[in-house]
Amino acid sequence: MAAVEKLRAAGFEAYWAGGCVRDRLLGRDPKDYDVATNATPDEIRHLFTKRRTLAVGAAFGVIAVLGPPSAGQIEVATFRQDAAYSDGRHPDAVTFSTPEADAQRRDFTINGLFYDPLEDEVIDFVGGQADLAQGIVRAIGDPQARFVEDKLRLLRAVRFAATFDFALDAATLAAIVEMGPQIVAVSAERIAAEMRLMLASIHRSRAVALLRKVGLLSVLLPELSEATPTAIATTQRVLDALAEAEFPLALAGLLHAVVEPAASLDIGRRWKLANREIERTHWLLVNQRSLVDAEYKPWPKLQRLLIADGIDNLLALHAAIAQSDAQTHADVEDLLEEEFNRVFEGNTTAPQKGTDIAYCRAKLKMPPEELNPPPLISGDDLIAHGVPRGKLYRWLLDAVRDAQLEKQVTTRAEALALVDRLRTNPPTDGPD
Ligand code: ATP
Ligand code: MG
Repeated sequence: MAAVEKLRAAGFEAYWAGGCVRDRLLGRDPKDYDVATNATPDEIRHLFTKRRTLAVGAAFGVIAVLGPPSAGQIEVATFRQDAAYSDGRHPDAVTFSTPEADAQRRDFTINGLFYDPLEDEVIDFVGGQADLAQGIVRAIGDPQARFVEDKLRLLRAVRFAATFDFALDAATLAAIVEMGPQIVAVSAERIAAEMRLMLASIHRSRAVALLRKVGLLSVLLPELSEATPTAIATTQRVLDALAEAEFPLALAGLLHAVVEPAASLDIGRRWKLANREIERTHWLLVNQRSLVDAEYKPWPKLQRLLIADGIDNLLALHAAIAQSDAQTHADVEDLLEEEFNRVFEGNTTAPQKGTDIAYCRAKLKMPPEELNPPPLISGDDLIAHGVPRGKLYRWLLDAVRDAQLEKQVTTRAEALALVDRLRTNPPTDGPD
């Protein structure tokens, strides 16, 4: 509001633009505010002072105006139109232009609106209000041409349709289906960013179903192409059952019924995910069934899982898979009872047979020094003890840790004695 006011007081034209207008009309809280104006980048910087501005999108004339921390950052951009796109992603050049041309260069009609906060007036050159009211994602202009310009829009279209529960306009849908394979022109980082937004959203199952329907899923994740109808149905149920979930957990949910855990490593590298995301997804896939019959598992094995960083994620995945299994197997009566239990316990993810989860949760309440006692020895101790460096370390430390959790060794001296025994007399299932 203040930014628009300031520009207008200085005699410029200025409106809120794009996603923030759409979100407000939908009654949602915008993530960020963008302002479009006829002031040039230099004029914007002069007006808001150099100290409070940052030339963020220098090539496009976008200036970030730093407000009070509560208001966050506002991006102020000069009305512009884009020249040709030759790389399938970015315009070769931009020229400053009119509000109407600035609306026309935006991707979808629902994203092409301006709002004048001083007059409380929506300015609509593209029919965005009607599409918002009807719940339609429609490319501005010729869909085919707009996707040729910038292939990221293929994914954005699906994301908006899924997260707002909107329909894709028929011509826009047809263009996405036809151009889907070209999504590979988009950088791994941008693809990952869109997948992150879609999978982390509670609408993820709709997003995945839509990606599948338009053919983008098999381009982005060829690993899933062979999925059977049963696996697809399971996946959709698990994605739904996850409710709130961070990206690595949701990705594990998407992959769990179809691919081997190792495939998630390739996918993670292909999308340039953060290592911790890759590791978390992989760990979840490896252990997706590890909490089944938790109370009958050797305690140290279970304990190892319970003290892992990702245990909350693993419990959530286990619960979602159990819930999905229950939906498959349960007869109507069971389903009714499950519904009753769920309502009764006020817990939306607890499966009907929640004993595994309940057992794990109870164990997690153990005193920390008992649940997760500090390791008796470290790699440094192995060095000091004269063990030659190498692959052996991990294995020895794991073996000692297991023995500690099983209470077979309780002191450092006993731990080192075990190391000696393991080295002179390695068990048949030891390291190669
Ligand atoms: P989100 O809720 O994800 O922030 P958004 O629509 O605000 O959605 P932004 O990436 O913040 O998306 O972009 C702000 C506005 O810029 C959009 O509403 C749209 O008008 C325009 N825009 C963004 N990306 C593109 C694109 N790839 N092609 C054309 N216009 C775009
Ligand atoms: Mg935005």
